[in-house]
This record gives sequence, structure tokens and C-alpha cells, in this order.
Amino acid sequence: MPEKQGKVFVLSAPAGTGKTTLVKRLTEEFSNVVQSISYTSRKRRPNEVDGVDYHFVSKEEFERKLSQGEFLEHAQVYEDYYGTNKEWVEKRLREGKHVFLVIDTQGAKQIKKLIPAVFIFVFPPSLEELRHRLEHRQTERLEVIKERLSWSAKEIEAGKNYQYHIVNDELEKAYTDLRKIVMTEDHSEENIYGV
Ligand code: ADP
Ligand code: 5GP
Repeated sequence: MPEKQGKVFVLSAPAGTGKTTLVKRLTEEFSNVVQSISYTSRKRRPNEVDGVDYHFVSKEEFERKLSQGEFLEHAQVYEDYYGTNKEWVEKRLREGKHVFLVIDTQGAKQIKKLIPAVFIFVFPPSLEELRHRLEHRQTERLEVIKERLSWSAKEIEAGKNYQYHIVNDELEKAYTDLRKIVMTEDHSEENIYGV
């Protein structure tokens, strides 16, 4: 059997849609699927762990890494910077892992211009349900939630151009759809980024 290199999967969804929940479950089920841990200048939330949820760095540190070409893509989301570590992703691909980039639509556009990848957008059932999930999660203040919801409408528009669409209404159904996409791509010779 030929040695198989992994693929890059770009997954985007408005905040609160359930992308963290879905991708976590995928990495728990499949040992050949990993999630890239982004660098961010955003403040750590109380429930988050440095090196697990994100690599939390200062704005200055982020800018230094950016100028040294360490990011495959990066974006400013709300007030903060977020970026994907190029070297880490390429190393995992060479090891045969499928690497999930859980990034916004600005980052996805950069990846699309740069390398072959699989693009998945997860839609919330509605903006109303999204508001409900964000309020229920209780990780952001109400004014931040408001800001995120207005940005979500733009993200949803951009999501229409993605290759695969999933609606996260029923979690089990959404997860089954995601799983199917990964298994299909695992057997296809398309969308391979040669590293
Ligand atoms: P994201 O990473 O997209 O911001 P999360 O995975 O943190 O979203 O999910 C946001 C909230 O919605 C969490 O509290 C999560 O448990 C909940 N959630 C995820 N999927 C569903 C679903 N299908 N139905 C109801 N609640 C969900
Ligand atoms: P949050 O602050 O809620 O964790 O993430 C805010 C947004 O930033 C989400 O849409 C998330 O997908 C996106 N994001 C997280 N990491 C990256 C990254 O490395 N690059 C880009 N472009 N977006 C990211």
C-alpha cells in the first residue's frame, strides 16, 4: 500500500454553531484526525487552557511570528488576531494525519488561494437558535454576543461558497454528516497538499 499523506480540512461556522463540539468528537473517534491549535492574541476565557484551546500570545508576539512567516493563514476577527502555524500543519500531514483548521471565512479564502484543501461550512439552524446557544454557553457578555451575531450573517453568506454544507440542528445528524465527509475524502486522491 502507498504511504498516504493527510489532507487539510477547513471548517468554518459562526460562533456558537457547534464547531468545537463537532471537531472534538471527530478527533476523539479517529486517531488520524487532528485539530490545529491556533495562535491568538485574544484573552483566554476562564474555561480555556493555553496550548489546548489556543496558544495565547500577546499582540506583539503575534506580530513577530507573522513577520517571520510562521503562519499559513491569519486573520483579524473582532479585535483579535488568529493564525495557523504552518510548520505544525505540514509536519502532521507528512505523518499521514488529516488536519482540521477551525478558522473563519477570511482565513478560508487565504487557504483556498494557497493550497488544495477540503472546505466544510457548518450552518446554524437559524440566527435565533445561534443567539440562544451563545447565551446558554455563557462565555461572552451580551454586547459581545450581539456583535458576533451581526458578523455571523456575513459568515453565513460566505459559507455558501464552501464545498460541503452541514446544518447543525440535531447534533447526531450533523456529526454523522461530518463523519461521512471525512471518510469520503480519506478514500479520494483529490485535494491533497503535497508537502
Ligand atoms: P462554536 O465552537 O461553534 O462556537 P460550540 O461547540 O462551543 O460552538 O457550541 C456552542 C454551544 O451550543 C455549546 O454550549 C454546545 O454544547 C451547544 N451545541 C452544539 N451543538 C448543538 C446542537 N446541535 N443543539 C443544541 N446545542 C448545541
Ligand atoms: P473564538 O474567539 O470564538 O475562539 O473564535 C473566533 C473566530 O476565530 C471563529 O470563527 C474561529 O473559527 C476563528 N479562528 C480561530 N482560530 C483561527 C485561525 O487560526 N485563523 C483564522 N482565520 N480564524 C480563526
